[in-house]
Amino acid sequence: MRAIQKLQRAPGLILTDIPKPTCGLTDVVIEVHHAGVCGTDLHIADWNEWAQGRIKPPIVVGHEFAGEIVEIGRDVGDTFHIGQRVTAEGHIVSGHTRQSRTGAGHVCPSTQIIGIDRDGAFAEYIAMPASNVMPLGDISTVTGAIMDPIGNAFHTVLTADIPGSTVLVLGCGPIGCFAVGVAHAAGAARIFAADLVTRRLELAREMGAHVCIDVIQEDLVQRVMDETHSAGVDVVCEMSGHPDAIRQALKCARPGGRVQLLGIPEKEVPIQIANDLIFKGLTVYGVVGRKMFETWYQMRSFLESGLFDPSPVVTHTFPMQQIDDALAAIRSGEAGKVILEIGGSA
Ligand code: ZN
Repeated sequence: MRAIQKLQRAPGLILTDIPKPTCGLTDVVIEVHHAGVCGTDLHIADWNEWAQGRIKPPIVVGHEFAGEIVEIGRDVGDTFHIGQRVTAEGHIVSGHTRQSRTGAGHVCPSTQIIGIDRDGAFAEYIAMPASNVMPLGDISTVTGAIMDPIGNAFHTVLTADIPGSTVLVLGCGPIGCFAVGVAHAAGAARIFAADLVTRRLELAREMGAHVCIDVIQEDLVQRVMDETHSAGVDVVCEMSGHPDAIRQALKCARPGGRVQLLGIPEKEVPIQIANDLIFKGLTVYGVVGRKMFETWYQMRSFLESGLFDPSPVVTHTFPMQQIDDALAAIRSGEAGKVILEIGGSA
């Protein structure tokens, strides 16, 4: 089968021909139709410091995908059927740790991630533990392919109290734009979106942001205070990982408010813990992956009901052999979500 691999401890990704994966007793094999390309794939391609410490080539990359089931392991039972359209949670947990046994699988210390710790989804076929597989129902495989990052947004937003709240989304890459859409669908009273790229702010507006703030043109904290009668917002979703944005996130939250941190900073971030966190009585929540599997069921009903539509954020589609063009689109900073067409018909 065709696959996109990291073959060497050096920059670049290569289109290769490798054997189709075998189906374990508790696995299903999925023919991949569409896959999402994400910043993580870019880091692996560029072979940055994080990738050098984590990735062990040769490995098939890619962790966001959807397709149809073509093989079912002997011990899987009758939950799934051949031809069923599905996606899957890409974090594979042992099932034996305290976390994965108590509904906190998203922070299980033994998590293995497809396309990072084991073979991933930029391939014509992938074998997945059946317990990670999620039927798509009427959801398309294009949307199914990006339920991983959409799920990050659902996890970020829906673990805060949203109905009637004021929400600030800091960083409007694809997950930030999805977060705006989720906040809108969940009944936020007023949504602020902040970024430094005009195109991303336009996407955020399309997803339901009421106030879009260009952080190069304007002082973000000042603007948020002006717009909220100096109160601050109820909920901040920090999606950028930039140190300035993390400090602004704490300052923009109202006393007693909540800050959801999803963006990953590269280094230590100095913050005013006394004044900006403790004395404000903030609750800070670190967002990892998707709650397994609460987030998936919430997300699926928002998608199936039409309450949440991610399609404005999908800006580019490429055939898998154009992986370099897909990565270049992300590198430009102007792209929303980038999709790879792998195989299948739909
Ligand atoms: Zn991703």
